[in-house]
Amino acid sequence: MNCLEFRRIKLAEPRGLPHEALAHMSECATCRGFAADINENEERLAATLAVPVPEGLAERIILRRKTGARVFAKASPRLWAMAATVVLTFAFGFQQWKNAGSQEYAKLAIQHVMHEPESFTTARLADPQLFRTVMQNFGGEMQASLGKVRYMKLCPVPEGTGWHIVFETEEGNLATLILIPAQRMKTASEQAQVGGWNAVARPGGQGFYAVITDSPDTLSKVDELVRQRVRWRS
Ligand SMILES: [Zn+2]
Ligand SMILES: [Zn+2]
Repeated sequence: MNCLEFRRIKLAEPRGLPHEALAHMSECATCRGFAADINENEERLAATLAVPVPEGLAERIILRRKTGARVFAKASPRLWAMAATVVLTFAFGFQQWKNAGSQEYAKLAIQHVMHEPESFTTARLADPQLFRTVMQNFGGEMQASLGKVRYMKLCPVPEGTGWHIVFETEEGNLATLILIPAQRMKTASEQAQVGGWNAVARPGGQGFYAVITDSPDTLSKVDELVRQRVRWRS
């Protein structure tokens, strides 16, 4: 088991780690720190929120699992917004990833996409209003639509938890946008190319964002579209 797998399991099953995960944790100080942060944040958030959050929105990341938590089959917009804010203002802080090479942010984004192929074939939280709210909470004012949102998910990322979004532009280009909070880039942009995937990472909002596509041509188009249509606060 590697650190990424450990994080995924820890986020999904905070209280019931399988044997392999416990074994990894006993050997890996980084993941022990991560587990301690999750446990602490869970308790704090459960106390702060004190409301059930709709299943599928905040996953089980921000709430201790409770029986009967599926109270809000259809959540109010306020609740969506609140949960999104709570999650995005989190920073677990993985100091160990800080020494990454200059292309690491974009490369990590590509690796994330490659490990989640279902993001291209599954419709999930495909809600334009939620997308707008998430962008806003992250610090991105949408000046115009980026296209049709197909998939949104909160994912473990090296720096904590980020939004993973798949959308289709008006031109029909499929693109992934990943919003990663609490990490400041030192450069204006970083690019990477891995296994046919192309990504660019740029500073914005509460941290940075990455755009990932399957061709260099599509990447430059979508990158331009995002730069034109989203105004980032910082
Ligand atoms: Zn580890
Ligand atoms: Zn993801």
